[in-house]
Amino acid sequence: MFAKIVSGEIPVEILAETDRVLAFPDISPQAPVHILVIPKSTAYANVAELAAAEPETLAEMVAVARSLAEEHANGEYRLIFNSGATAGQTVFHVHAHLLAGNLEERSLGAS
Ligand code: 5GP
Repeated sequence: MFAKIVSGEIPVEILAETDRVLAFPDISPQAPVHILVIPKSTAYANVAELAAAEPETLAEMVAVARSLAEEHANGEYRLIFNSGATAGQTVFHVHAHLLAGNLEERSLGAS
């Protein structure tokens, strides 16, 4: 599904873009700032697969997330990679949830 966002078939507000990485708002925000950061490649279902194959792309996703947290919040943020259906993953194209703003709750979850 995120492949259609990368190809432009599903239009999104692009918040950041590099050769390998794209960031756009989550359609159903769970925090004052809730941005998805994804690799453009559709080859990786989860963060472990991406880390093993393309660690530099993962590092780029983290750098993009950090810079978006500075742009859209106070530079402090939470980065979540749901990995597997029982961990809450519904889209099997690796993505980081960048959560920022006032994250007052103490759980590690997104809601
Ligand atoms: P997951 O549950 O796999 O960790 O996260 C998938 C996320 O993608 C959810 O937070 C959901 O709101 C978001 N999402 C699903 N479809 C779309 C879409 O078409 N556009 C955008 N911007 N976000 C989407």
